Amino acid sequence: QAKRAGRNTVCFFDPQMQAVASASAALAADLRQAWREGQFLLEYQPQVDAQGRMTGAEALLRWLHPQRGRVPPEQFIPTAEETTLILVIGRWVLDRACEQLARWAQRPDRAHLSISVNVSARQFRHPEFVDEVMEAIARTGVPPRKLKLELTESLLADGFDITVKKMGSLQRMGVALSLDDFGTGYSSLAYLKRLPLDQLKIDREFVKDLLTDENDAAIARTIIGLAQSLNLEVVAEGVETPAQREFLARHGCDGFQGYLYCRPVSIEQLEAFIDANAGLPVATATAS
Ligand code: C2E
Ligand code: MG
Ligand code: MG
Ligand code: MG
Repeated sequence: QAKRAGRNTVCFFDPQMQAVASASAALAADLRQAWREGQFLLEYQPQVDAQGRMTGAEALLRWLHPQRGRVPPEQFIPTAEETTLILVIGRWVLDRACEQLARWAQRPDRAHLSISVNVSARQFRHPEFVDEVMEAIARTGVPPRKLKLELTESLLADGFDITVKKMGSLQRMGVALSLDDFGTGYSSLAYLKRLPLDQLKIDREFVKDLLTDENDAAIARTIIGLAQSLNLEVVAEGVETPAQREFLARHGCDGFQGYLYCRPVSIEQLEAFIDANAGLPVATATAS
């Protein structure tokens, strides 16, 4: 009610704001229908180590709209978060990822692979989130360590102590925790050292111009050094060129993800990537 009153007040003074508000209401309705009709799917993007060997994949949500085609997550996740739809979608992503891990656990040539799942702050904040993760793991019987949850700094807005407590519960369960888009938020280093984490992800923002922008290069090196001092694994996202990979690897980056290796693909294409990757002699994988 307060929200509706707020909206009316805003539209009285600012028609442009009203247009934005009704567009997002329409999007919210579209999203609910999309959920009912099963228009969401997952793609996977491989992650590799310094030798080019695949270590796992990140699950990325896609909305296949019957008219608009593929809608990028940036265009619908904020609205899914404002409504509560992100809770059911997020749960669905988590369940699918665990089911995939369970299938891989049956195969000696796949059992080492992990899956990273993006968790929105709204989803993490939900009182049942930790239990849902526990249930998904118990139901599928996957080794908890193979599941990585990618969290963002925005989660700290909820209060530091409760966040640390929940992260601690997840970590004790054996689940790996990654801080996504690291460096783009506002968290201080004092916070970082107290967060139970296993991995930092260097945002694409700093990887993009690594070779031409000295500041980006310095930031990337600093993040890698920071991760090493805190005993965290560090993965770079958005790696598009051999030169970027070479720079990052030379400075000690552990993991790499980006178009250089593979775009986000269907599970069938991912399986093909896994087979091709397993067949790669190490020499070929490291050369560029
Ligand atoms: P993210 O978690 O930081 O994911 C990395 C994004 O970078 C993905 O965009 C991926 O497709 C893109 N990317 C990877 N390699 C490259 C590259 O070499 N070059 C370029 N230009 N881009 C690259 P995508 O799939 O559009 O996802 C955008 C964001 O949406 C994600 O950023 C994540 O924050 C969010 N997201 C995706 N799936 C989910 C989900 O299941 N739940 C939630 N809560 N958020 C999700
Ligand atoms: Mg991510
Ligand atoms: Mg990221
Ligand atoms: Mg990012």
